[in-house]
Amino acid sequence: MFDSHEIEAVKQLLTNPRKVVLASHKNPDGDTIGAALAMMHYLRQKGHEVIPLVPNDYPAYYRWLPGAEDFIVFDRDVKKLRAALADAEVLFCLDFNSLDRTGNMAPDLEKFSGKKVVIDHHLEPSDEFDHYFSVTDVSSAGELVYEFIVAMDDADRIDKNIALALYTCIMTDTGSFSYNCNHPRTYHIVADLIERGVDAALVHKLVYDTFTENRLRLLGYALSNRLLVWKDLHTAVIYLTKEDLKRYDYQVGDTEGLVNYGLSMQDINLAVLLTEKDNQIRMSFRSKGDFSVNRLARDFFAGGGHKNASGGTSRIGMQNTLDKLKEVLQYFKDELDYTLTL
Ligand code: 5GP
Ligand code: MN
Repeated sequence: MFDSHEIEAVKQLLTNPRKVVLASHKNPDGDTIGAALAMMHYLRQKGHEVIPLVPNDYPAYYRWLPGAEDFIVFDRDVKKLRAALADAEVLFCLDFNSLDRTGNMAPDLEKFSGKKVVIDHHLEPSDEFDHYFSVTDVSSAGELVYEFIVAMDDADRIDKNIALALYTCIMTDTGSFSYNCNHPRTYHIVADLIERGVDAALVHKLVYDTFTENRLRLLGYALSNRLLVWKDLHTAVIYLTKEDLKRYDYQVGDTEGLVNYGLSMQDINLAVLLTEKDNQIRMSFRSKGDFSVNRLARDFFAGGGHKNASGGTSRIGMQNTLDKLKEVLQYFKDELDYTLTL
């Protein structure tokens, strides 16, 4: 799984109690939050001083995770965050492959003078790190944190708090075991996490069955008023303007999972969600089968991600972005024309 030299190097690095900071990516999801919290609990058990950092707030439906209140949020508390970074000797980066994925926090991480370790499952990690635990054919970064703890000969330290955090990573990054979920190893790990105290049904409810009324109504509005189906391109697009989001009192996390509704249609192989935030358009791409949304996001919308799930941004306004998307997809018309079969 991992290079034994890298494990040895990190063992050396952590021989004495260290001041450690953990970084999650911008617009944090369950994987980056869970991976950081699992590492936090693990490293604290080992006697290190650990502070988790995040560029902006995580959704309210992750607040129940043990230790979630320990995150320092760059957007809210930049002074405290810089003090933690200045003091730290080791930085672990979780669930991202390049420091620019941490948005406004990136310049501070780039200046960090200690060792940088990356634990991540995205393609093509950048050369900014000192130690790499980068594997792409796994469910999530959380799965790699599990493997990391095992490789450190510390499997016994995986307690209920760590197990809850890691289960959340795997559940959210596989869409509740509906994609990135075909590696038998993932299920062995999940079985172990359940043996260590995770209530899988409860975690699912805490994350997915805690919508506000506004969030549910925004979902209904998006599906009935803001869904475009481009049949000839096998593509479904949902777009939400600033005004739409305001109308339903948008809270961080409210559009999470929305893009998947587009993909739930027969003959649709690509789903796109466009949301207007901070004067730019945030884009989420999902695909079924072979069509690579990583390439689409990377080559045309300043983003990236995985083959079947990626994200990007656009700064040309909603209508122009929709026009550009349709134009770009003309080039992929044939590639998008397939039917999944057994
Ligand atoms: P989401 O659509 O859920 O925001 O992101 C889907 C996947 O694409 C995630 O794995 C995420 O890490 C990746 N991703 C999202 N936005 C970006 C981006 O702007 N740049 C890159 N490189 N990856 C992104
Ligand atoms: Mn992830």
